[in-house]
Amino acid sequence: EKTLNEERSGVAAVTSTARSVAEWDDYIGYFIKKKLRVWCRLPTGQWEMGQIQSTSGEESRVQLSNGNVVKVSMTELLPANPEILVGVDNLIQLSYLNEPSVLYNLQYRYSHDKIYSKAGPVLIAINPFKNLQIYGNNYITAYRKKLVDSPHVFAAADAAYNEMIRDGVNQSVILSGESGAGKTETAKLAMQYLAALGGSVGGIEHEVLQTSCILEAFGNAKTSRNNNSSRFGKLIDIHFSMVGKICGASIQTSLLEKSRVVQLAKGERSYHVFYQLCAGAPSVLRGKLNIKMANEYHYLNQSNCLAIDDVDDAQLFYELMKALDIVRICKEDQESIFAMLAVVLWLGNMSFQVIDAEGHVEVLEDEAIATASRLMGCSAQDLMLLTLQQAIDTRDALAKFIYARLFDWLVEKINKSLEVGKQWNGRSISILDIYGFESFQENSFEQFCINYANERLLQHFIRHLLKLEQEDYEADGIDWTKVHFEDNQECLNLFEKKPLGLLSLLDEESNFPKSTDLSFANKLKQHLNSNPFFKEGRDGTFSVRHFAGEVLYDTNGFLEKNRDPLCYESIYLLSCSCPLLQLFATNVVQSQDSFGNVGQSGVLNVQRQSVGAKLKGQLYKLMQRLESTMPHFIHCIKPNTKQLPDIYEKDLVLHQLRCCGVLEVIKIARSGYPIRITHQEFAQRYGFLVLDKTVSQDPLSISIAVLQQFKIMLEMYRVGYTKLYFRTGQIGEFENTRKRV
Ligand code: ATP
Ligand code: MG
Repeated sequence: EKTLNEERSGVAAVTSTARSVAEWDDYIGYFIKKKLRVWCRLPTGQWEMGQIQSTSGEESRVQLSNGNVVKVSMTELLPANPEILVGVDNLIQLSYLNEPSVLYNLQYRYSHDKIYSKAGPVLIAINPFKNLQIYGNNYITAYRKKLVDSPHVFAAADAAYNEMIRDGVNQSVILSGESGAGKTETAKLAMQYLAALGGSVGGIEHEVLQTSCILEAFGNAKTSRNNNSSRFGKLIDIHFSMVGKICGASIQTSLLEKSRVVQLAKGERSYHVFYQLCAGAPSVLRGKLNIKMANEYHYLNQSNCLAIDDVDDAQLFYELMKALDIVRICKEDQESIFAMLAVVLWLGNMSFQVIDAEGHVEVLEDEAIATASRLMGCSAQDLMLLTLQQAIDTRDALAKFIYARLFDWLVEKINKSLEVGKQWNGRSISILDIYGFESFQENSFEQFCINYANERLLQHFIRHLLKLEQEDYEADGIDWTKVHFEDNQECLNLFEKKPLGLLSLLDEESNFPKSTDLSFANKLKQHLNSNPFFKEGRDGTFSVRHFAGEVLYDTNGFLEKNRDPLCYESIYLLSCSCPLLQLFATNVVQSQDSFGNVGQSGVLNVQRQSVGAKLKGQLYKLMQRLESTMPHFIHCIKPNTKQLPDIYEKDLVLHQLRCCGVLEVIKIARSGYPIRITHQEFAQRYGFLVLDKTVSQDPLSISIAVLQQFKIMLEMYRVGYTKLYFRTGQIGEFENTRKRV
């Protein structure tokens, strides 16, 4: 005990001055004398803990914890934290803030199933890939009643809820992290907590919770990174009444990955709902829609992956139907939805044969065309005529269109069902869960969009936690040594700049009739080669230096996917009889009126906004919405690429920590004054505690009188022009006294 305390105070003495690596050199002697632990970087790049035995010149002899002695350069050493600090739950408590210390601390916690940690204001969640018993009602109660204060997604949701009630300000919970890191699961847990807190007699919270099940069925799929990967972005606003009860919700989605409906990479699946339908449709429905098993559909069987381990698609179909009931989608609409899914599957089975030397094709008249046309309510002839023009492309475009519209329509329906009454004037908590950053061997337009969205989101994070925070200190006259951080603004500019950004150039090329994917690649080369975030590649490829690493994109298919042309006739045809399809059709006619033009083939290419431009608009709206809220950030981390429990790959974790600026956030939080309150508010809240009645009555004087009376050390606070700034924990003391009085 005694040595630990000594160690601790010794370290504290060093730390108060030696915060940077440069200064560390001066203290190495101290570490040797006191036999303190250090981190030692081995030639493999891995950090190991050890003790310095001796130094000579630039070289040190270090004994590692496994007993081995190594000789390393001083530059390969960093101070390690004393044992007493191992496993602290907020990383700002570390005396030495360096990568190996942070990494080790998180690993230590992870190996004890403590998957949550704080990094200053940010909650870090490391995916356990196993069910931990930490989400039951007992945990909800414990966090609600503040019986525990260890980091947890419930604690984050609780903070959002409390601040909403206390300050009357809309809040947001923002999930970030790579694909498979746990954003969607964590978002659901946050919702579960809020539903328990804000549950009401009417029970609308049950409906809100069921939306996840529905949206995941239609918008998630197995990828090589994640068995339940979100292929769309989702912002769900949970509305609360003035007394803090849930009274409704609304969902905003962005850019569903459409290509997945018709084309799959090896080992990946299309949207879950297709497999669920094939496995679980009850016999009457099965007969009506002529549903086969998944392996009989071309759109599903092309990737050699039909099932997911431990997932029962039939059971999930049953749950999906229940969820649709709960959000009050009527049976008739449900049947239309399933019919549309069957149409998509049968369209995929339509096949064509070449009938002459000019390459004309004919549709094979088989079960596929018969079923698809029957379900669509048109004649087989119509459908054949329609698809002949560009055969497979047209067929696929149609399938993608139907699916994407079905998805949007479903979201509209759910929103109607969860709508809050007109007179609602309460507050809301928004939960943002988008698709995570992706980098595969081959990356296409879809990854381009997903990664762009992630850059946007990162900018929001950086702005709030790194930029605004520091600007605030400077503007309010607090002396402050600026913490340097990697800003992704320049990378974002590479995408968004007009007229010479990636999106603008893509749109320009998409509108140019003779363009090809290669001409697009050349255009990028021509205009962007000097941009440090851009690199030209071979054979129509290019790379972007993203925050999370460099990604090589293949331009093959970019123009077509960005244009996303619709065959107007196809859609028109769809409006024959099926009410759901009519709904789709009206939508198209409207957009056609303003932008439509007839392409050469006689097929109308409805020229709407390009996909890239649309995404940019959606993200802009999303960020605007978030800017009006008080953000709570949760950063999810994927501990291994195998999706298995209890494996902690250090390099992988470190990479993710580096990418999102977590270390910088901790630095700022540690040397900063995270609690801030205006003189006015502070005086109003605590002024009555002042015993000295001669103090002049302006907010600043009252505030200072409170601080003096409580004998707060100058080290713990700063007085700005407009606000008071406190170190973590300081305000608690005032609050306690206030409550006691
Ligand atoms: P994407 O960007 O691909 O959508 P994601 O970040 O949303 O990825 P999730 O789908 O939330 O990732 O998580 C992937 C998987 O990890 C889940 O299906 C689940 O098996 C597991 N997982 C995540 N969080 C938890 C948790 N808290 N407890 C148990 N398992 C979890
Ligand atoms: Mg997800």
